[in-house]
Amino acid sequence: MTVALEHPCKPEVLALGGTSIRREVVGQFQFGCVIDNRPVALPDWRVTTDDSGVAAEVARIVGGRTESALINGSDPLEVVTESPSVQVGPGGIATHMKLWGSRGLMHHCDGVVFLSPDGARGRPCGCPRLMADRKEQAKLGRGPQSNTVAIFRLAGNYDMGDFRFQSISWKLAETVRDVRGELAALDDSTLCELSLEAVEFGTKSGRRVSYYKPVVKALGPWRLEGAG
Ligand SMILES: [Zn+2]
Repeated sequence: MTVALEHPCKPEVLALGGTSIRREVVGQFQFGCVIDNRPVALPDWRVTTDDSGVAAEVARIVGGRTESALINGSDPLEVVTESPSVQVGPGGIATHMKLWGSRGLMHHCDGVVFLSPDGARGRPCGCPRLMADRKEQAKLGRGPQSNTVAIFRLAGNYDMGDFRFQSISWKLAETVRDVRGELAALDDSTLCELSLEAVEFGTKSGRRVSYYKPVVKALGPWRLEGAG
């Protein structure tokens, strides 16, 4: 926890159960990089941070090596792990859906009710009930895009502070509903697994397409004494 306070912070606001929680993070989880100017999904997690102590500890817990991140923006260090899954503990996960227009944020909801502006918060937003229909609306520019933000701690070292993972994956948004249901049932004190799953399918033209999708799974009750 002290690590988080000693370093430049990246505040994140999560809406959980109607209340906003402001969190500061010490590092960010990603699973892509840019090769020849093209985004490429990778099978293992990468963790960016601006703190060499955090980078070393992540490399120790998750396994991997630290490199300087020349491409990925403001975090100068990147831990290239050899792991597609990490055990994470109490945190929050929420999907925000946003549609931007020429005058700014036009529609901000969780798929069911508005999250902003304050005057509209909690009122039905009118988005379709099915995720597939929401995705279609977003593709046409008529509906908001999903954006899932997870804030969590590493099970291997609780005191290091919060990490963040952000994804616009609709598949992840779908699993978030289930995980949030489980988290609510388990009093928000749940050990979870954040992992990357390979997905492969054949197109109509016979081409094989593969990609990685992020998945969150609830493993069981979180026990601090077991966190090391
Ligand atoms: Zn909506």
